[in-house]
Amino acid sequence: MSLILLIEDEPELVRVLRAYLEKSGFQVESAYRGDTGLSLWQHKRPDLVILDLNLPGMDGLDVAREIRRQGNTPIIMLTARVEESDQLIGLELGADDYITKPFSPRIVVARVRALLRRAQGGSTPARILRAADLEIDLDAHTVTRGGQEIPLTPTEFDLLVTLAEQPGRAFKRLQLLEALQGAAYAGYERTVDAHIKNLRAKLEPDPKHPRYIETVFGVGYRFAK
Ligand code: CA
Repeated sequence: MSLILLIEDEPELVRVLRAYLEKSGFQVESAYRGDTGLSLWQHKRPDLVILDLNLPGMDGLDVAREIRRQGNTPIIMLTARVEESDQLIGLELGADDYITKPFSPRIVVARVRALLRRAQGGSTPARILRAADLEIDLDAHTVTRGGQEIPLTPTEFDLLVTLAEQPGRAFKRLQLLEALQGAAYAGYERTVDAHIKNLRAKLEPDPKHPRYIETVFGVGYRFAK
């Protein structure tokens, strides 16, 4: 049974979301403050975190940054802020998906399911993808280079697989968004840029001169041949 950590300071929202998630077969822990939410994450190591942006104690963005510094737990951000920039900052910090308030609890449950499926590798047949000097295990959802694992979030992993499956092919940002199945990004193609930036930071010896993921000007990205 997957454990979901819900960090949200609106009691009514917590009550409703908890009820929906539990009805859908998830175990739920919740915190009303950012700082207590973070320590709960450290102690319980949940399978997924649903994180509000505006929180007492510690801002949601700081909580996301801290979780990413210490691990790869999938994060869905809840945001009442309409500014695209806040959502982009969240994605740059490594959140995998975001949902803008107000939302239907059913949507949240659907996104949780989709993200957990991606994080756990889904039902893909056992397959190792070798691209350049990277070894991508589609089953275990791990990327290694020279035996060293490069820890990636589910979104970064899916992006890398999409690109590396067809080296040399240029993908439009929109095509990459579509490849991130289950993650409805409301058509913000720039969110791809944020994920690519994170992916390069982890993968590339010199992110300013990428040797794996090249930018194709006016189109998008491709995995180097
Ligand atoms: Ca709030």
